[in-house]
Amino acid sequence: MILSDKSLRGLVKWFQKNRREMSWRNTRDPYKIWISEVMLQQTQVATVEPYYERFLKAFPTVHDLAKAPLDKVLKVWEGCGYYARARNLHQAAKQIVEQGGELPKSSDELRKLKGIGPYTSAAIASIAFGEAVAVLDGNVERVLARVLCERRVISDSRVKKRLHAVASELVKKAVALRLSSGDFNEAMMELGATVCKPREALCKKCPLKSECRAISSLKDVTALPKKAPAKKVPHYDIGAAIVRKDGRILITQRPEHGMLGGLWEFPGGKQERGETLEECVRREMKEELAIDVEVNSLFQSVNHAYTHFKITLHCFDCKHTGGKLKLIHCSDAKWVRPHELSRFAFPKADRVIIEKLQLTQGE
Ligand code: SF4
Repeated sequence: MILSDKSLRGLVKWFQKNRREMSWRNTRDPYKIWISEVMLQQTQVATVEPYYERFLKAFPTVHDLAKAPLDKVLKVWEGCGYYARARNLHQAAKQIVEQGGELPKSSDELRKLKGIGPYTSAAIASIAFGEAVAVLDGNVERVLARVLCERRVISDSRVKKRLHAVASELVKKAVALRLSSGDFNEAMMELGATVCKPREALCKKCPLKSECRAISSLKDVTALPKKAPAKKVPHYDIGAAIVRKDGRILITQRPEHGMLGGLWEFPGGKQERGETLEECVRREMKEELAIDVEVNSLFQSVNHAYTHFKITLHCFDCKHTGGKLKLIHCSDAKWVRPHELSRFAFPKADRVIIEKLQLTQGE
């Protein structure tokens, strides 16, 4: 066993004394814990707080979430990013309501719900229901890699397996010591977030320092965990159209499945090799909506980074010159006035365009 009873007790005690206040830490309500854990998956704590409050205000129970239209869920989620999480929450809420309205109490059962994987199921089951199941997020992986002085690349599947086995053993031991599994898991995550940080380790304050192998073996503990060399992130130029007609602007809704599914956007797409941005916009309008447009001046370009690629969105002022609008590669389309754009959920890059549109139109 890599950590003694004394260290485990010390870790949980440290957490109970030093934990940061967060809205979701004052509840054992599995629905609220679920929402917070999903939001925290790709987003920082400080960013999540207002979204969490806003989401629970709009959907206080799983029943409210299940019966809401997807459009409303995406709108409330807008700005939190990674919209697949919102769509999955919505679908899982429907599954829960169909099964009686209570969140399942075990991690195995929770994993059967849409979008709930090993991390989220373990977090809900341990924090809300006290199951002895380990949560392994980036923070916990880093703490364990340092405590074990694991020198192999962290993304290696054998390393992941080892860390998971160690975390599982530790949470079981914590429960055998009559410590709460939820507190143990939260303590490990909190330690990684506030003490054993990626670029700085505050080892003097660490409750695990007496048994950490990295301190005794390395000059610089932040050399771990070892990362695989970063891959080059591709970049795409996107040509999009602000098509105006009688004071209204055309917006389209992305198909529900796939990236940014269900969100609204200014229609357009990826620039192909050898074409200008103007040609790209004309082609996309034809392919997506069967309309012809005259492409005028560039309204604005916006850079945005997603997890695996970057884009520059180039939005052009356009005039509809012909063709009857057909929904070919989108699920809906609307002509709306600039001030009405705020009612729809848009990706971040499009919202920058909207701000300028509303500013320039005095709306
Ligand atoms: S002693 Fe230092 S390196 Fe080891 S777990 Fe604690 S903070 Fe991390």
